[in-house]
Amino acid sequence: MGYQTDAVHAGQQPDESTGAVITPIFQTATYAQEAPAVHKGYEYGRTGNPTRLALEKNLAVLERGKFAYAFSSGMAATSTVSQLLKAGDHVVCTANVYGGTARYFRQVMAHFGLQFDLVDTSQISHLERVWRQETKMLFVETPTNPLLIISDLRALASFCHDRQALLVVDNTFMSPYFQRPLELGADIVLHSTTKFINGHSDVVGGIVITNRPEIAERLAFLQNAVGAVPSPFDCWLILRATKTLPLRMRQINANATAIAEFLSRDRRVQKVYYPGLKDHPQHELAARQQLDPYGQPGFGGMISFDLPDFETAKRFLTGIKLFTLAESLGGVESLICHPTSMTHASVPPEERRRIGLSDGLVRLAVGIEDVEDLIADLQQGLAQI
Ligand SMILES: *Cc1c(COP(=O)(O)O)cnc(C)c1O
Repeated sequence: MGYQTDAVHAGQQPDESTGAVITPIFQTATYAQEAPAVHKGYEYGRTGNPTRLALEKNLAVLERGKFAYAFSSGMAATSTVSQLLKAGDHVVCTANVYGGTARYFRQVMAHFGLQFDLVDTSQISHLERVWRQETKMLFVETPTNPLLIISDLRALASFCHDRQALLVVDNTFMSPYFQRPLELGADIVLHSTTKFINGHSDVVGGIVITNRPEIAERLAFLQNAVGAVPSPFDCWLILRATKTLPLRMRQINANATAIAEFLSRDRRVQKVYYPGLKDHPQHELAARQQLDPYGQPGFGGMISFDLPDFETAKRFLTGIKLFTLAESLGGVESLICHPTSMTHASVPPEERRRIGLSDGLVRLAVGIEDVEDLIADLQQGLAQI
C-alpha cells in the first residue's frame, strides 16, 4: 500500500464486536479469562492492550519495520533501549544529542556500570578514536538540535556491523515520513512521539521499532518487565494523529523551506542552519538520506539562525507574536525558542562555544499555518532589532 494509505489504515480494522470504525480506547487494567490461562491474548494491561497494539502496528509499518513497542515518553523509550545493555558495555553517542538523553546516560546509566563517549558522529574518524572492544552500541541523532548537523546513517550502519555493535537512531527530528533509518541499515529506531508523530502538542510518548526478531523479543520482555507503558488514551490520541502525519510533514517541510529561504535573504540574519539550503555543508547527504516515501528529499521543520548577540535575539523574540515562545517541536503550531537560555541552558558556556552554539542563536519549529503569516511575523520581529 501507499504510505498515506498505511498512515490511515495500518494496524486498524473496524472493531469486531461493534463495528466501530475507529479503534476504541480499551481503558481496562485486566481481562476476563474463560478458564485459567485460557484468554483472548490479553491478560493484564501493562503486558498488552488492544489500543496500544494498534498504535504499535501502525508505527511499525510507517517506519518500514516489523516490530514496534510503545512507551510512556521518548525518555522511557531511550531508557528501555539502554537496558538491552549490561554493566561494562560501552556506548558511543552523538555529542550534540537531545539533552535529556545525555543526562540519562551520564547521570543515571553511568551509575549502573555503563560507559559512554559523546562524539561528533558526522565524521567516522571521531568514532574510531573512542571505539573499544566493549563498545556495543552507537546511539545517533541526525539532524542534531539545534545546529542540524547530519550523520551518514548508511556509513554508520556498516561501521557498526563490521564491529558487532548495534546502531540505534533517534529519528524524532525527521519523523518516519522524511527518514527511515531501518532502510539504511539501522538496527533500532526510536522516537519521542511527543513531537512530529503525535504533532498536536497534547501527548508525551515514545516508540521503539526494529526488524530484528531477537531484539524485538528482548524489547517486548523489557516493555513488560520495566513497565514504562503509555495509557490507552494516549495511544488512541497518537493513533489518531498518525493518520495525518504525511499531510502535516509535507506542509511543515514546504513552510520551513520558504522560511529558510526568506531568512537567508535577510541581511540582519547572520547565518541560517537548514539542511534544505544549498549552502548547508551537508546538503547533498541530507538530500540523499532524508527522503519521503515517494523518493523526494525533505528537510523537516527545524530551522536555526544566528542574530548578532543575546540582546538582539531578546529584542527579536519579544517582538514575535504568531510563533509561540516555547520549548518542544513537531506540533501543528509554530514555536520559537532561544537555545542558550532555554533548551540548552544546562550546557556550560565553554561547551556551547565549542560546538558553535552562539548566544544570538534562535531556533524555529515550523508548523502548518499559512506561510505568509509566519514570514510576516518574522519580518515584524526583525524590524524590532
Ligand atoms: C523530546 C525528545 C526526546 C525525549 O522525548 P520525551 O517524549 O520528551 O521524553 C528525545 N529525543 C529527541 C530528539 C527529542 O526531541
